[in-house]
Amino acid sequence: MAGLKIAGVTKHFGDQTAVDALSLDIEPGEFVALLGPSGCGKTTMLRMLAGFEPLSQGEIRLGGRTLASREQHVPPEQRNMAMVFQSYALWPHMNVADNVGYPLKLRRLSGEAYQRQVAKALAMVALAPYAERSPQELSGGQRQRVALARCLVTDPDVVLLDEPLANLDRHLRAAMEHSFRDFHRRTRSTLVYVTHDQSEAMALADRIAVMRDGRLEQWATPETLYRQPRTAWVASFIGQGSLLNVTAGWPGKRLEEAALMSGIAAAVTERTQPVLVRPEHVRVLPDAPSAQALRAQVEGVTFRGERYELHLRLESGEALLAYHHAALSEGRQVGVILREGWCLEPEA
Ligand code: ATP
Repeated sequence: MAGLKIAGVTKHFGDQTAVDALSLDIEPGEFVALLGPSGCGKTTMLRMLAGFEPLSQGEIRLGGRTLASREQHVPPEQRNMAMVFQSYALWPHMNVADNVGYPLKLRRLSGEAYQRQVAKALAMVALAPYAERSPQELSGGQRQRVALARCLVTDPDVVLLDEPLANLDRHLRAAMEHSFRDFHRRTRSTLVYVTHDQSEAMALADRIAVMRDGRLEQWATPETLYRQPRTAWVASFIGQGSLLNVTAGWPGKRLEEAALMSGIAAAVTERTQPVLVRPEHVRVLPDAPSAQALRAQVEGVTFRGERYELHLRLESGEALLAYHHAALSEGRQVGVILREGWCLEPEA
């Protein structure tokens, strides 16, 4: 299996830069998500990987082979990659098995080898009993799996997926997340998955490339992105949390020790170091604010089933989101202990 190397890839459309000097080293068999808001260049990067879009600068390599650079452009059908589109693009007049086998027909495969490969691909997505059905007789999730089987049938080195769950409802998405993980475990193929949904990326990917305005903002595992986001922008894009501007002097350190110092309340008002505090790291003391606790007022309460979200306002004026097991009335004064925080790079 071959790793995928993206080195300094840039794409201009006229005077607009859709992808800006992006570099990623993707391990063989890795499940990677390209994550970012609409228009950040995810799809353009995927289309360059597939070979549908020439590069303005940089290089894409698969194993030792250059697939694309300014001088070179290996056409899509010679890259041994398969792309699954958002729309699935199934042929309505062909049954499931014929849809799946279509790429093999293009390669002039027939007879027993053809039958065997189609059966294997259908089994991989658990659709063998549906081989004779037409796509119209399937649910959205099943159509999605047909599209996956069709892309697997040629045994690609890399599978490229563009927002594959975007058209599905919430329940089906959760079920499909499971089948994607299962699919990846069975095939061990290298997967590049484009999404703007952070929870989907976190649930699925081994590593996530967070993109912003065509640039790579952070490239890390889901756990690292959540616990140690590099910038305030990543922190606000991934998960929930509050950004506090705390005095300088603790870069890379947890707020834990600092929170224990009574000086923090004063420090918070100096506004120099952005610190991320996740709501699960805020302890709310409704009745007995201790000397160590910061003082805050409850501004809003949202019921989330397993917990309440409290929107608090610290004395320093900063907003703070906290989780709590019970509802507290708006306007109530509470104590707050910050158990942990993460110092972020200040925005340039
Ligand atoms: P979305 O999640 O909305 O699909 P994206 O992150 O995939 O967004 P891209 O589709 O890659 O973003 O687009 C990145 C930027 O490049 C956008 O500003 C878009 O308008 C521009 N762009 C993309 N394709 C073209 C094109 N063929 N011609 C001109 N501009 C383009």
